[in-house]
Amino acid sequence: MIRFETLLEKVRSYSPEADLELLRRAYVFSALEHKGQVRHSGEPYLVHPLEVADFLADMKLDVVAVAAGLLHDVVEDTLTTPERIAELFGAEIAHVVEGVTKIGAIPFSSSEERQAENFRKMLLAMVDDIRVILVKLADRLHNMRTLHHLPEERRTKIAQETLDIYAPIANRLGMSKVKNELEELSFRYIEPKAYDALRSKVEARRKHAENVIDDLTTTIRAKLHDAQVPVIHLDGRIKRLYSIHLKLKRQKIDLERVYDFVALRVTTQSVKDCYAALGIIHHTWSPVPGRIKDFIAMPRPNGYQSLHTSVVSEHGFPFEVQIRTEEMHRHAEEGIAAHWKYKEGRVGDQRDERYFQWMRQLLEVQQEVRDPQEFLQNLKIDLYPEEVYIFTPKGEVRSLPRGATAVDFAYSIHTDVGNQCVGARINGRMVPLRTRLQNGDIVEILTQAGHTPSRDWLAFVVTSRARSKIKHILQGEERARSIELGRRLFEKEARRFDLNPKTLLENEELQKFAVEYGAQKTDELLAHIGYGKLSARTAVQKAVPGGQLKEKAPESGVVSVVKRVLRPGAAGDKIKVRGTDDVMVFRAKCCNPIRGERIIGYITRGKGVSVHSATCRNVINLMFDPERRIEVEWDTTGDQAPYTVRLTMQVEDRKGMLAEISARVSDINTNITNMEARTGDDQQARIDMTVEIKDVKHLEKVIKSIKGVQGVLGVERTARA
Ligand code: MN
Repeated sequence: MIRFETLLEKVRSYSPEADLELLRRAYVFSALEHKGQVRHSGEPYLVHPLEVADFLADMKLDVVAVAAGLLHDVVEDTLTTPERIAELFGAEIAHVVEGVTKIGAIPFSSSEERQAENFRKMLLAMVDDIRVILVKLADRLHNMRTLHHLPEERRTKIAQETLDIYAPIANRLGMSKVKNELEELSFRYIEPKAYDALRSKVEARRKHAENVIDDLTTTIRAKLHDAQVPVIHLDGRIKRLYSIHLKLKRQKIDLERVYDFVALRVTTQSVKDCYAALGIIHHTWSPVPGRIKDFIAMPRPNGYQSLHTSVVSEHGFPFEVQIRTEEMHRHAEEGIAAHWKYKEGRVGDQRDERYFQWMRQLLEVQQEVRDPQEFLQNLKIDLYPEEVYIFTPKGEVRSLPRGATAVDFAYSIHTDVGNQCVGARINGRMVPLRTRLQNGDIVEILTQAGHTPSRDWLAFVVTSRARSKIKHILQGEERARSIELGRRLFEKEARRFDLNPKTLLENEELQKFAVEYGAQKTDELLAHIGYGKLSARTAVQKAVPGGQLKEKAPESGVVSVVKRVLRPGAAGDKIKVRGTDDVMVFRAKCCNPIRGERIIGYITRGKGVSVHSATCRNVINLMFDPERRIEVEWDTTGDQAPYTVRLTMQVEDRKGMLAEISARVSDINTNITNMEARTGDDQQARIDMTVEIKDVKHLEKVIKSIKGVQGVLGVERTARA
């Protein structure tokens, strides 16, 4: 067991100005709080935080991290609150301890690939101080080292969690030393039989392997020496059991040949030396094609740098060689922790800058980073800024795009859950459905059978899945309403001619017409009537053999309605609706489109087709239902009655302005039906003018001529005529 004084000495050695008194207080507090508690090993509990702190000091981390290591279990395992920690040791340490506690409280149950990935992402997304992860990893490492004291069932569970979650996180942060040890220990407890079998196989070959390694290192050392490439460190090693295990499993081979598990590593002085060493190695032994990897020029996403190659020895077997500088080696072993070290007034050098690039790319942090220490301190580790991670009440993790609401979550579970959701509980509290979800929220959806989505939901959902499902339901409802309306119109029309609508609908003639019309079923035909694409009169006519209808005596009012519906467009509109000839068409009042303008038709419920300008805001909003969109075009034949258009202009307030404008407009054969001017107090006036316009070209000409008048500041077409 390490002594606290030894830990202090360690911290002092790399950080002479560190607040050791703070560490001492943290130690005493931790000892007091954990007093009487015992680990499974039978040792006093205090051993654990002390070991964790010691490991953090080995990584040369700052006092905040080391103190947090000493205190990391007091909130979870004693009655101490985070507030108390903050009072005694400051907000920073309290924050780290709280973060570690939070992570520990998250239930993780499944080792399913996608689940684990989500979980890792969520952990990283939740943590806003890198030291939280570093303390957590140190904690996990010590727990894994002492795992044999635990009952078997818990051992397997913790080891699996380590392999699924914490080893990959260490890898992600570039801490290969921690990652490797976590993997080896996990392997040992998860597959004890495979582990033991492999270990004895490797042990049986150890002697031979060590001789091989000796030979190889002697050869290469001499070659590098001859070429005057400085070697700082040269070693050969037997690969880790877990990595041999994975390799054997992947290639479905048995451990037969010794070279499957040896590797050499060369540490040199500079990048130039690395490439020189690579050249010499390739000169000594033949490289295996396709196995040369330059992670110096192209570092791995976690910042890892090295040259990798596989070569074939003079005895005919291939083995792997890694070449790197000392600095690269340190980064490879310690990863992000290498940058968290105490640095005495030293600002980040070039290498540090480059190392942080991968993180910055993920973060899209725009600001200049002067000091990596400061950078880390201020850093919100939002490695996945686009996503949030949400729990189901059963503890499953789901990832959703940031900004997702309870409704999005409901649809991510199941379409029926989405459609029938009536309420949501986040972390046990009822919230509105539009509530945006936060990382780590536990969300429970309340449903009610038969409930259907509301149109309002479209305004706040963010996932395309939710959006399309809601639209689908709304369209279905819309369609049902159209069928119902179509049926009513059809029945009314049938009765007008003294016909029985029921027998008419089942009529063979009508079925034939439906097929001709492109409708598969009677319902579809009725929907067309309801949407206004087909008139009820036409349908009834088609249902009667010979198409002869004898009208009943007219009732007042009804006939005129029918006539309106049957008239091909209201007076002056002259708009053709593709594929039909007897639908009522009118120009929408909101945008008042005129001949020549790009237009689209919108089928109103039972009132015919309203024609909007293609750019009309109103219609763009209405068009969520593509079923109701219909193509329309201007009818350019025959009589071209003019449209009235209102123009508003802002002008300088001067004498004769009104006369000049009206003269210009009259000059181009334009009828002015009304003109009004109002003066303001700013030497400006507003003129409203109503003109008769033939088409859009005509309108453009009028506007251009008005703009040509001196003192006109602007002309606008007023939407409403
Ligand atoms: Mn712990």
